[in-house]
Amino acid sequence: MTGDARAPVPVHQLRATAQPGGMSRALFWLDTDAGPAALAASCQLGRYRLRNFTFFGHAAVGAAVPGLLGRLGSGWHPAEQIFDSAGVPRAAVWRDSDGNVFLPFDPAEVMQQFWSESYQQVGHSPIALRGRAAAVRGYYLMRPVLPRRLQLRLRRAYTQVQERASFPDWPAEESLHDLYRWLFGLLAELAGQPVPFIGEWPDGRSWALVLTHDVETDAGYRSLGLLREPERQLGYRSSWNFVPLRYKVAEETVSKLREEGCEVGVHGLLHDGHDLGSRRLLAKRLPAMREYADRWQAVGFRSPATQRKWEWMPALGFDYDSSYSDTDPYEPQPGGCCSYLPYFNESMVELPITMPQDHTLFAILQNADADVWLRKAEFLRERQGMALVLTHPDYAVDPRAANGYRSLLSRFHDDRTVWHALPREVAAWWRERDSSVIRGGGDGWHIEGPAARSGRIRFGYAGGAARGRDTADADGTRLSAFAADRTWRADLQ
Ligand SMILES: [Zn+2]
Repeated sequence: MTGDARAPVPVHQLRATAQPGGMSRALFWLDTDAGPAALAASCQLGRYRLRNFTFFGHAAVGAAVPGLLGRLGSGWHPAEQIFDSAGVPRAAVWRDSDGNVFLPFDPAEVMQQFWSESYQQVGHSPIALRGRAAAVRGYYLMRPVLPRRLQLRLRRAYTQVQERASFPDWPAEESLHDLYRWLFGLLAELAGQPVPFIGEWPDGRSWALVLTHDVETDAGYRSLGLLREPERQLGYRSSWNFVPLRYKVAEETVSKLREEGCEVGVHGLLHDGHDLGSRRLLAKRLPAMREYADRWQAVGFRSPATQRKWEWMPALGFDYDSSYSDTDPYEPQPGGCCSYLPYFNESMVELPITMPQDHTLFAILQNADADVWLRKAEFLRERQGMALVLTHPDYAVDPRAANGYRSLLSRFHDDRTVWHALPREVAAWWRERDSSVIRGGGDGWHIEGPAARSGRIRFGYAGGAARGRDTADADGTRLSAFAADRTWRADLQ
């Protein structure tokens, strides 16, 4: 469970409990906790491919591995190849003669690379990264003085450049969730039994549909009804993110939305491209954002133009942030955390935007209908994910956007499998789930902790890399908890 002193690089170990009459088998993996400097030269930061998924992180390459493992097991041999971005075999999943397994990478580091989008810096020179950052800054600086049609044309031209990026895939990127499934399958194989985990959603629901809106301008503020009215007709609730100092937000608007069961969140302060433009400006503007959060009883934050910096988000002091997308090559700050489930950034819950934005589909890509929305929602439904939608009343004057939204709402309003939830409810549930554990074994398992009331137990099975409804699609929160505080021994017992 801790780095083994005999191994020349730190290696984590998880030992599955022996089954009666069976052998105890262990999973070992590279430990990157101490930082890259502590790793041997044979551990290289890169982009890799294992089976059907891509991942980023350090990997112990080549035949150096038996040496790294020291006297942990014997008869180590490469069992499954891992390829670099050029398709060349570089590393492997190793097995020994007793069935122990060594992962030449650190699952916790890999998940963190996805969640924080730091994978974007893997394989790029610092100069190229600075160039991209300057282009994004330039776009923001120019935007207020550009006519709207020219802004759109620039966004479309930029879009063509962005489409060449090979990762993440759009409108869905499955690598992170394929990794989760594969890891759970491996654990189940080593444990010789299905691995229990707390299901993603409460009260027997199998997926979540979360509606959010950003109100960009005073024109949008005066057009709330374009999106709110169809929601009312179908019994939906939603979250409304306002910009405190860009237009006047009446107290009555906030209280009326709250009376209808809706939520109000904070969408920056001025929405001028500088709210999260620098640490200095953020520090200057944050007290005013906090003041409006208190006034509106808002617990959620959405960054203007989804401008984000991983290290800064928890300092905003909100219960949750919703500024990351699972995949979005079309935003001024493109990228994607590749997760269609919530996750933690320190103590803050991150609720990724997992549906393409209205502006992307209808203004940039000129889609005529809601087909992409409906297909992505079905995709998330099948995978027990969270469909988090972001639409803007400002763009709902376009009938394609308004009608598309209506189609999306009517498709799922009477779906009995879905949890229609506000973002703050999802964040609260995710905390309950995270602070609960599974106990038991033998005859049965049960949940202990705040999720005991509404949570349910699901299982990961050996061979979990296959997709489908019966296959566990556990999330990285539990896996990273395993990696971070080694609680999965308890979970396996
Ligand atoms: Zn906005």
